[in-house]
Amino acid sequence: MCGILGYCAQEWDPALAKFFGLQGFNLQHRGQENFGCTYSNGKIFNHFKDKGLVSQVFTRERRDEFDRVEPLIAIGQTRYATAGGTDAISAQPHWMTLLDGFYSNATNGDLPLLEKEINELRESGTILLSGNDGEVILKKILQAARTRNGGDIVAGIKHLMETTPGAYSGCLMSLDHLYLYRDPHGFRPLYYGRWRNAYVFASESCAFHERDAEIEREVYPGEVIVFDTKGHKSHHQVVEPKHSRQKCIFEPIYFARPDSQVYETPREVGSFRYQLGKQLAREKPVEDAIVIPVPDSGRFSAVGYATEIGLPLRELFVRNPYIPRTFQIAGQANREDLVRLKFTVMMSLIERYRKFVIIDDSLVRSTTMRILIAMIRESAEKCGVPKSDVEVHIRLASPPIKGCCYYGIDTPESKELAAANMTIDEIAKEINATSVAYISLEGLDEVAGKYDDPGNFCHACFTAVYPTPYQVRTR
Ligand code: SF4
Repeated sequence: MCGILGYCAQEWDPALAKFFGLQGFNLQHRGQENFGCTYSNGKIFNHFKDKGLVSQVFTRERRDEFDRVEPLIAIGQTRYATAGGTDAISAQPHWMTLLDGFYSNATNGDLPLLEKEINELRESGTILLSGNDGEVILKKILQAARTRNGGDIVAGIKHLMETTPGAYSGCLMSLDHLYLYRDPHGFRPLYYGRWRNAYVFASESCAFHERDAEIEREVYPGEVIVFDTKGHKSHHQVVEPKHSRQKCIFEPIYFARPDSQVYETPREVGSFRYQLGKQLAREKPVEDAIVIPVPDSGRFSAVGYATEIGLPLRELFVRNPYIPRTFQIAGQANREDLVRLKFTVMMSLIERYRKFVIIDDSLVRSTTMRILIAMIRESAEKCGVPKSDVEVHIRLASPPIKGCCYYGIDTPESKELAAANMTIDEIAKEINATSVAYISLEGLDEVAGKYDDPGNFCHACFTAVYPTPYQVRTR
């Protein structure tokens, strides 16, 4: 998963550099492995990309160089590697200089037939420097534009949408044009709006909050929007949008920032999670317990759960924010060590309470939950509490995850997914929980229905029924 961001302005404003950097910070949660940027003042372009956070890559020197060029167009990407390595060459944006100009592209999402797309491009003589889908998309668009459509980039993007299944919300720039596009399903969000004399865009609405940028709307599925440095804007609905099972429901369940809006609705992701917690409480209540969120992903749902039943809510786990997301780390032993490093337990609560209901957004491999439960039980033992006195109930604000995601969320292969390989009772035994229960798919749809037509959301990771062709990938 990644975040894309940037702007297209009519004249240089020094505040644009700061605005661009703030957009990057506000999309940092979508990818922490790489940051990159391409920018142009209409005559020359420049670019950089590297490993690290926005603050580590957009250094003082690069910021000074950015200011010196006075760019009218800039595109950037915060990256979480799902295809290709984490080296700078696989990072985005990718760029290419052709006889007729310079182009650069960054995307958010994954191609479910990436291997096939790579092979086809290579067989046609195209050189690919990385295994990254953003590069494949750039080269497919340029190839189609040049060989079939007289260099027309919009036609190149149309060809991409007609021939390439997948999840891609993207931005492509030349020296003086910016193209925003979104695949016909619209798996990943993409917004554009205005800030001062510039059009601005970002993967999530939280990137518009700084300095009062105004969101105009989402880029529609199957649409291309073209901006230029003279202030022109044109809309091209190049492909009919797909009308079912398109938007990733894991964006509001887990991935998006709580203060972002849920796709086209003005209501926030945090309220969606709160409603999930309430629904979960109605479906799978636990009485006379203390409600504990798994930080940070379970917080809003835990508040909803506790509120609905009228139970006390306490913070039991303290999370060290400097430990990376555990499921990005290869190797089970590493992951387990990191969970123990990442969380500590508030002993004062262990001394006081015996019945806990732990709320999280989802259960993927079950590693984190198994270690958290072990930490509660070990801590209780240290306090002299008999093992048989401690109850740990697990409640999950998404249905069981039974399928790998091919559209940009880095869920592991099916063989590693707890719910794809065990019954709920087996999971409870495996993680040493007193009970485990999930929100139902119907309950999830009921909540989603308060925000959008629930039939619009992709459910493939719960049903393993995919809305596009895909190739099983080993990670
Ligand atoms: Fe989102 Fe799941 Fe669909 Fe992937 S499979 S796009 S995670 S809902």
